[in-house]
Amino acid sequence: MDKKFDLNRLNVKAFARDGLSLQGQLSLAQFARLAELALSPVESSLKGSGQAAQVSWAIQAKSVPVSSGDSQIWMHLKADVDLPMQCQRCMGEVKLTLQANASFRFVADEATAEAEDDESEEDLLVLVPELNVFELIEDELIMSAPIVPKHEICPTLVPMMAVDDAFEAALEARPNPFAALAKLKKKPN
Ligand SMILES: [Zn+2]
Repeated sequence: MDKKFDLNRLNVKAFARDGLSLQGQLSLAQFARLAELALSPVESSLKGSGQAAQVSWAIQAKSVPVSSGDSQIWMHLKADVDLPMQCQRCMGEVKLTLQANASFRFVADEATAEAEDDESEEDLLVLVPELNVFELIEDELIMSAPIVPKHEICPTLVPMMAVDDAFEAALEARPNPFAALAKLKKKPN
């Protein structure tokens, strides 16, 4: 990586003007908030299988000339990580690949971002002299994580009845029939 560019404090404007790109790999341990989504991050990094999860990332920026004034600054960000998460069906470990893929356009200030947000498909960011790309990578990966991590097919046996989420949710919401029965039995006539 070029020493001139610090991921914590990237001069996006200069980076884009030169049409540069950067990529690399970072240990998951460097992303505290993201690592919290992982199933016991300490354990999985200590486990014999060895390698701690790695976040692969790449950014690419460009300056796009527009007829009406200043050129636009764009940045494309890609990142992925294989994250061991806890399956919410069988409670076992499920290794999921989180993938972020986002385009940002930088604007002069918050007001412009708000004004143009509705009609823009890309994400708008306020241009700051030093952009924390680390944080951006982490935010994007966290947003790409499933809210309810699950195996496609759980490796352990699950009851045949638990076929879909709505049914599972209904089951959970329902009072335990055995508990209800026990209550009835105790009731004097
Ligand atoms: Zn599972």
